[in-house]
Amino acid sequence: MSEEKKIALITGATRGIGLAIAKQLAKDGYVILGTGTNDNSRNTLKKEFENNNIDGKSYVLDIKSQESVDQLFNDINDDYSNTPDVLVNNAGITNDSLFIRMNDSQWFDTIETNINSLYRISKVFLKSMIKKRKGRIICISSVVASTGNAGQSNYVTTKAGMIGFCKSLAKEVATRGITVNCVSPGFIETDMTNKLNESQKEQIAKNIPMIKMGTPEDIAYAVAFLASDKASYITGETINVNGGLFMQ
Ligand code: NAP
Repeated sequence: MSEEKKIALITGATRGIGLAIAKQLAKDGYVILGTGTNDNSRNTLKKEFENNNIDGKSYVLDIKSQESVDQLFNDINDDYSNTPDVLVNNAGITNDSLFIRMNDSQWFDTIETNINSLYRISKVFLKSMIKKRKGRIICISSVVASTGNAGQSNYVTTKAGMIGFCKSLAKEVATRGITVNCVSPGFIETDMTNKLNESQKEQIAKNIPMIKMGTPEDIAYAVAFLASDKASYITGETINVNGGLFMQ
């Protein structure tokens, strides 16, 4: 590990958008710390690092657990002499249902995973950014935060909350050299959207001005920009990457 390299921590880096972000930030010269929820996905990520010559390490993290977040922080401290310069809050889930039929576990599990997680992990890693007087926190929201979506009241609550969280935290830490921003993807081809059948995907694409879903790399480029020095005067902002589906 070259100690002078910047470190980026990406939650949920095992696949989809998180993996694309890991690969892009590695190309940009960061040491990559990525997480999966269990040993299997952590090992898959480890192989991705090896196959792509990525300088970094994979960890197990359940973002719903404070204990797991604290363990991650301790493990990183043991493994590296530096703390993350960039935190990408990417891990997230959907658990869809019309609100009237939604059960407690669908609601609370989504809130725990997608939004209470921001409190846990950002707090832990923000402290060291404040000490260093520099850092980047980038959260992966969603186009549905702006448009709403039937069947996703739980998920949309978290993704809209995320934008408010980023704006508020951005104001609190602006004088400390830390920026806090969101990237808001439209429909992106990953396991998350593979749950949709072909006719649902066609229907979605028809409503997108570019008539296609995006790729994980499309999101990774926006994250890489926000992480870079070129974005140092941008904070509390949301970059929409959605093929024109929603325009601010
Ligand atoms: P994905 O393919 O389903 O991958 C989800 C990632 O999150 C995996 O790495 C998974 O780890 C991890 N994860 C799940 N539960 C976790 C937990 N409790 N603790 C820690 N990590 C957890 O998702 P994606 O499509 O790449 O989405 C990534 C982010 O983009 C999410 O926040 C999602 O809401 C957002 N987004 C996606 C789309 C889209 O169209 N795909 C659109 C808008 C926003 P394991 O592999 O170990 O399960």
